[in-house]
Amino acid sequence: MQKVFVAQHHAEAYFVDGLLRANGIESEVRGEALFTTIGGSSVIPGASPEVWVLNPAQVSQAAELIRRYSKGEALPESAGPAWQCPNCGEHHESQFATCWQCETAKPGPTSMGS
Ligand SMILES: [Zn+2]
Repeated sequence: MQKVFVAQHHAEAYFVDGLLRANGIESEVRGEALFTTIGGSSVIPGASPEVWVLNPAQVSQAAELIRRYSKGEALPESAGPAWQCPNCGEHHESQFATCWQCETAKPGPTSMGS
């Protein structure tokens, strides 16, 4: 496990997580539990959500994707159509593999695996 990205907020963390997953990289968002364990406050300094890559061999690939994302460069999976979550109705760009809001998987065939 290696941390590859620290997000400003949940949506950004799940965007990066979805981006990595869409490119076959196993990743997960960490740190979000801190937002729910402390009642009464939704903003906790130093508790930004983090994106971790599970497979050390994929860290460099993940870092490259994140570098492109942070510089606004074209992403490999950005050519597909946007999609709408069948569960909550949230709209997503094609690079999301799962709904960032309810974590429902993107409908139809995915590019995961291979
Ligand atoms: Zn959803």
